This record gives sequence, structure tokens and C-alpha cells, in this order.
Amino acid sequence: MIPYGKQSISQDDIDAVIDVLKSDWLTQGPKVPAFEQAVAHYCGVNHAVAVNSATSALHIACLALDVGKNDIVWTSPISFVASANCALYCGAKIDFVDIDLASGNMSIHELEKKLVLAEQENQLPKVVIPVHLAGQSCDMQAIHKLAEHYGFKIIEDASHAIGAKYQNTPVGCCEFSDICVFSFHPVKIITSAEGGMAVTNNSVLAKRLTRLRSHGLTSDQAEMTELSHGPWYYQQIELGFNYRMTDLHAALGLSQISKLDAFVSKRNELALRYNHEFKDLPVIHLKQTQDCYSSYHLYIVRLMNSDKEHHKALICQLREQGIMSHLHYIPIHLQPYYKKLGFNYGDFPNAERYYNEAITIPLYPLMTKEEQSKVIDAVLKVL
Ligand SMILES: *Cc1c(COP(=O)(O)O)cnc(C)c1O
Repeated sequence: MIPYGKQSISQDDIDAVIDVLKSDWLTQGPKVPAFEQAVAHYCGVNHAVAVNSATSALHIACLALDVGKNDIVWTSPISFVASANCALYCGAKIDFVDIDLASGNMSIHELEKKLVLAEQENQLPKVVIPVHLAGQSCDMQAIHKLAEHYGFKIIEDASHAIGAKYQNTPVGCCEFSDICVFSFHPVKIITSAEGGMAVTNNSVLAKRLTRLRSHGLTSDQAEMTELSHGPWYYQQIELGFNYRMTDLHAALGLSQISKLDAFVSKRNELALRYNHEFKDLPVIHLKQTQDCYSSYHLYIVRLMNSDKEHHKALICQLREQGIMSHLHYIPIHLQPYYKKLGFNYGDFPNAERYYNEAITIPLYPLMTKEEQSKVIDAVLKVL
């Protein structure tokens, strides 16, 4: 079976992890700050805080922005559930902004419409979490402009998009956001096995994120409420978690980041070949905007003139041919847990239509020409 996504691990990655195993520090050693610095440098951002998953990063990003009970958070319904769950962890209310069908990203038009209504009803969101679907940035400048007008904060869920560019700057530079979050799960662009990172230009937020990932503890006298009792002393000044990344994971991530540009350009190369080979098929490619360079975490097409049954049959047929085609994503608001919160069919029509049309076709940097040909042949045959 050709998987839809897969990590690329080479000997230098393996050696980097083994070196840590032989060192004095398995966790809380030098590799975590080294990985953080490498990501911050790559993105051109001031601060990076590594954690054990993007899910954890989203959670503490919300907390760092003071999301709590009575607050409202908005995200895209076409995302992994973690993009929405983070708000619920904080006791906040979640709502969604429908997507732009062409790109699959949060629709700026729908966002603006919803903000106008929310302002009238005194229900404005505290935080909006745009998701860069498949590795293509949302229109961050437009979202930022709305944020300034309506006074909300922005967390970019860039789990798909490390290595991508927006207006010629790296995703993660935080020019148009407060915090940006990456995932290093093995299907993503680079991996640390499990792992995530929150990046920001705001030093106060960075401090808070660092504290929240480790129990809410500080050893910084300036943050303490009483004088130090001695050199062993630390204080817990808020409720945090153990969301730390280990040095084993950080060493793998650090080794991988040196290959990030090569991975992304290989993904673009493979995507280009698909675009070319599929140009006569009754499918629509996710629209790529001029000012974006996608990291192509996923290669997604939408079926034209199809229906739910046909769509399902095609995905099943591809799997029967040994091609692990997939579907990203089930609209979050249609998950049973979210339906219990009051969401239902019809709430976000574009997201629901997208769900009946989208197919993810395998794409990963180690995919050989032969493997890609096999995928292309199967897709041409089935579609
Ligand atoms: C993978 C993913 C996450 C969660 O990442 P983890 O590192 O597995 O916690 C969150 N949001 C999106 C959009 C993702 O694709």
C-alpha cells in the first residue's frame, strides 16, 4: 500500500538520536533550545517554544492569550479536531467560519460577515485560529486587518505549513499573527516523532508559553511573589502542564530541519507532476494563490459533478489498487462530540460540500518516480 504521507528518515537523523541516548541529557538538555533556535531562525521570528505536540502548543497558545470561560474562539471546520479542541480545553466556546471552497482555507468573506453579526450581538471572538490547509497559507494580511478592527488575537495553525511562504516571508514569521503553531508528527513536513512548537515575536507570550509547558513553574526572580529561599527554589505561579519535548525528539527535529527546504521543494515537484497528469480529469485542484508557496503537506483534489456515493466508491477503489487515498478532513462540526454541543448538518455548507468532493492523493518526499507513476495510473483508471 502506498501511504498518503510518510516521514523521511536518514542515517544522520538516526545518529542524532543515538548521540542523545549516549549523552547526559535525555530531556531538558541542550537539544530542545537548539531545535527552538533553529526553527526561530528559519522562520525569522524572535521566540520558539517546543512542546510534545501541536495539540499541546495550541492549548497553551490559547491559555497564553488568556482564553477562558465565557470567551469565544473561531477556527475552520476543515481541519483536524485539535484546532477546535484547544478552545474547549480552556473552557471557552468554539465556533467555526466556513471555508472558501476554492482553496479550502477559512473564507475571508465569511469571516467578515460573521464578525459584523457577532459585533451586533456582542459575541466577538477573543481568538481566531486560521488553518493553513495542505500547506498553503490563509490570507493572513486580510485576517490581520480584521483582527485590528474587531480586536481579536490570531493563532495560526500551521501544522501543515512549516517551510511554506506567504508574501515571500516564511510562514511562522508572525508578521500577521500573535502565535503560530507547527506540528512535527511523522506525516507532517518534518518530524520529531511526536512534537510541536509555538513561535511568537512577543516576549511576554513566549515567557508564558514556556511556563505553561512546564507546570506553570518559574525560576526567574522577577516573576516570583517572594524572595528566593535558596538556589533550589522555584515557584509555581499558575497552573501549567508537562508538555515538554524531550531531547531525543528535539535532536530528530533539529536534524530534520536542515532538510526542510529540500523536502518542500520535492513535494512541490511531485505536486506539479500530478497537476500535469491530472489536467484532463474531472477534478478541481485546490486553488494556489500568487502570494503563496505551499509546503504541500497534502495533495488534495475535489471531484467535479460527483456525489457522496461516487466519491466514496472512488476512494475505496483507489485503496483496492494499493493507493492509500484519504480524506482531509471530516468537518469538525459534524463529529458526534461537536454535534452534542449543538452543531449540525447545514451549519457550514461549503465545508460539507468540500467533504463530499475532496480526495487526498499520496505525496511524500521519498516517493519514487515509479511509485508516483503507479498512483497516477490508478487515479487515471479509477477517475
Ligand atoms: C496534525 C495536526 C494537528 C495536531 O498535531 P499533533 O502534533 O499531532 O498534535 C493540529 N492541527 C492540524 C491542522 C493538524 O494537521
